[in-house]
Amino acid sequence: MQVKLLHNLVEELAGENTGRIVEILFNKKDVNEFLIAKKMELTINQVRNILYKLSADGLVSFIRKKDKRKGWYIYYWTLRTEKCLVKLEQSLIKKIEELNKILMERETKRFYLCKLCDIEVSEEKALEEGFTCEECAEVYELSSNSGPIKDTKAKIVRTEKDLGLIKNELEIIRVKESKRRSRADKKEAKELEAKKALLKASRAAARKKIAKEKKMTKKVSKKKIVKKKVKKIKKKTIKKKKLSKKAPKKKIAKGKIIKKKTKKIVKKKKAVRKRK
Ligand SMILES: [Zn+2]
Repeated sequence: MQVKLLHNLVEELAGENTGRIVEILFNKKDVNEFLIAKKMELTINQVRNILYKLSADGLVSFIRKKDKRKGWYIYYWTLRTEKCLVKLEQSLIKKIEELNKILMERETKRFYLCKLCDIEVSEEKALEEGFTCEECAEVYELSSNSGPIKDTKAKIVRTEKDLGLIKNELEIIRVKESKRRSRADKKEAKELEAKKALLKASRAAARKKIAKEKKMTKKVSKKKIVKKKVKKIKKKTIKKKKLSKKAPKKKIAKGKIIKKKTKKIVKKKKAVRKRK
């Protein structure tokens, strides 16, 4: 159903006898353009012309690969199903609008017919021509609208049915696509989370390492400080010892001074006594 509708769409867009390309590309991916040409019994340029027209509407996409031996590029084509269905949907909606317009005219206007030439004209045209055929001068007859009305109504029903199918198909594709996307999003989110966790862990490890190194250097410097202190203490004790050796001399000196002072005082006292 879909293939047949797409076939018709492609012929509308790219010309007669081009619809076969849909059957070749449908449900396949990256089809070699030479294979398409062979299957369609067309030259490579004819095939490319069809595909370029379709790619202008986004209905096909391609990848190209360089042929290593021949040195030129070969194009591989894929039918973009969703785009095709959207285009088809638009085309069917437009067709239904046109059919409704025709139906309206058939239900409200009169048409005239030349049976000899099998030509039908509008009432305005028939009036202009004095109700005689422009070609053969035969008198126009009033045309029955019942046949065209019936045909048009049937066409509308058929086209609406096709449109419904396309809409369903599109809905299925869109649901699938949204599921695929949400799966991909979830996967991406998970990967991101894992990455974050890894980063966090590696940062924590780095911090730990730095902290450990700091601790080590502190210990080392403490040891040094302790050693220095020990040295200082030793020096101090040595100084103290030296000081303690010197100390008695001072005491002795002080003692001498005291003795000298007392001698002076004694002398003074003696002097005072002599004056009396
Ligand atoms: Zn005629």
